[in-house]
Amino acid sequence: MEKNYLLIPGPAPIPEAVARAMSTEMFNHRGPRFKKLIEELTFSLQKIFQTGERLFILTASGTGAMEAAIVNFLSPGEKVISLVNGSFGGRFADIASTYGAEVERVETPWGQPLDYEGLEARLRADNGRAYRAITVVHNESSTGMLNDLKRISRLRGEHPALLIVDTVSSMGAIDLPVDSWGIDVCVTGSQKALLLPPGLAFISVSERAWERAARSKMPKYYFDLLKAQEYLEKGQTPFTPALSQCVALREGLRIYFAEGRENCYARHRSMARAVREAVQALGLQPLVKDPRYASPTVTAIKKPEPVSVDQLRREMFTRFGVEIAGGQGQLEGRIFRFGHLGAVTGADLVVGITSLELALQALGYPVEPGCAVKAAEEVLKAG
Ligand code: PLP
Repeated sequence: MEKNYLLIPGPAPIPEAVARAMSTEMFNHRGPRFKKLIEELTFSLQKIFQTGERLFILTASGTGAMEAAIVNFLSPGEKVISLVNGSFGGRFADIASTYGAEVERVETPWGQPLDYEGLEARLRADNGRAYRAITVVHNESSTGMLNDLKRISRLRGEHPALLIVDTVSSMGAIDLPVDSWGIDVCVTGSQKALLLPPGLAFISVSERAWERAARSKMPKYYFDLLKAQEYLEKGQTPFTPALSQCVALREGLRIYFAEGRENCYARHRSMARAVREAVQALGLQPLVKDPRYASPTVTAIKKPEPVSVDQLRREMFTRFGVEIAGGQGQLEGRIFRFGHLGAVTGADLVVGITSLELALQALGYPVEPGCAVKAAEEVLKAG
């Protein structure tokens, strides 16, 4: 019997109604139907971002929006602080240096909190106001670390550096008030908490970031947001948008708002706690030690002896149809990751955790049958 449970950190499972909405007929992307659609989508996304500022819908994956966040607001040679404690933090730094920014990586080991003191010291010493931007990933999917964005925003304070944030695996699942936290440029993708397949990306832009756009000298064509703004005023995008995705997004957003933002945040928090409690009941160690930094959408777990991550993933998938992720980059082979976001439910997690227990037993790791599921249920029943 083929039945799969996609418990990776994205793409996340989507509701059936969203999948059905994808099979739309085509229509004119320069006509009134699209104009109405893009206006409605932009307005709804602004509510999720908690922003009253500009927001653009891009046909791209999340990395496209990260690139747009760099090339539209910076010029070659400008100084950027990139906070890095995982793979995606490193990606932001790479994009900025690829386009000629002078990037200072403020790094901590993957799975450890960011170097908040290091950021504070650099900003405090920057009397000439040379730093033009800070890049940071809100929820580091490669490690399951939720970085403290509110603290970073406070540390940035009155410093004119733009706060540029990747919220690809957090937007929608975690409370993230873009305007009140002073986030200048905020990017996310469609395939995580926003109930859509991959293919669309979203970027919000504060007024002070927008003022920089006119002066930015980094090369850009497809991701030129000044051009996107011109077209948005006509209810269009500069290039052909992914129309099926836009239609499906309307359905995804309808489902999202029917659940309600706060309920959605609570569901993600509870799923994350359930996984954390379950793996601890098995004697396994989450990579992120301090529960205050534990991501509500992704949990990374250190691999136990004598099990290999590949074997574990294969066993869970071939025997139970449960797909979890391995580690990326330097964590490959050392951790495995549960994604619990988007349309994933507590019931899906119970299946995932049961199959984890059974797979571990099959691979020679001692398990007290039912202990992990019991721990998860304790969390899930509390809601
Ligand atoms: N940033 C984070 C935190 C992510 O989790 C991902 C994707 O997994 C990305 C960026 C890149 O997004 P994409 O693969 O859609 O380009």
